[in-house]
Amino acid sequence: MSRLSIRQVGKTFPGNRGKAPTQALQPVSLDVVDNDFITVLGPSGCGKSTLLRLVAGLETPSTGEILLDGVPIHGPGADRGVVFQSYTLFPWLTVQKNICFGLREKGMPAAQQKEISERFIAQVGLRGFEDHFPKQLSGGMQQRVAIARALANDPKILLLDEPFGALDNQTRVLMQELLLGIWESARKTVLFVTHDIDEAIFMANRVAVFSARPGRIKADVAVDLPHPRH
Ligand code: ADP
Ligand code: ADP
Repeated sequence: MSRLSIRQVGKTFPGNRGKAPTQALQPVSLDVVDNDFITVLGPSGCGKSTLLRLVAGLETPSTGEILLDGVPIHGPGADRGVVFQSYTLFPWLTVQKNICFGLREKGMPAAQQKEISERFIAQVGLRGFEDHFPKQLSGGMQQRVAIARALANDPKILLLDEPFGALDNQTRVLMQELLLGIWESARKTVLFVTHDIDEAIFMANRVAVFSARPGRIKADVAVDLPHPRH
């Protein structure tokens, strides 16, 4: 169970070296309920990444507050799994060790780490690649590892920032279907940021549409699932 409450959260980046401050996000409010798959859709620069980074705890809001299950967030935490467009794997760790990273940090026994990582390796279709290093994998495969790593910690919510933006069209469709399958079976709450309208509508049961910078929510639309592609 999880519920994300974004309450009047705005962000202004201070200007440095004489530059004017940038209001990236006007105060926005958004409630993401259990098992929602919500996409945040908006033009480049509207503050989508900023919103996601705020929820991830990588930025601090200038106004408002963010609650996860009623508790204000302070900084990053294992209760939020994050996937970025640039795969951000640890290049010196194998697929399995990347996926186990958070579990090892928590001090989980090795046997249990292995069991969990094997489950997610299978789920993202990477069996046989356990001992590969990120640079030996294609972009799509690296993103599979990143998704498995985010899920392995059993986060309350999965946050994805244009996760398939760097992939070719064919791979992107495969990865969208993979993620939808995971969402349907794992029943995770998902917040997914994209500027791609097709992707936003295909993926989500709810789409929050942002205006151009400084972003604010212009529409919040329920979408029926599932969406057959063909
Ligand atoms: P989007 O993800 O929708 O493309 P971003 O959240 O990345 O938009 O950026 C929103 C606005 O905030 C942009 O004008 C961007 O240049 C600005 N911005 C983002 N991060 C910073 C930062 N760390 N410092 C200053 N300005 C920033
Ligand atoms: P991407 O690797 O960019 O996600 P694909 O998933 O289509 O794109 O994979 C590209 C190639 O990588 C495939 O043709 C296949 O040879 C190899 N590959 C990807 N995933 C697997 C897998 N689970 N098992 C074996 N080979 C794979």
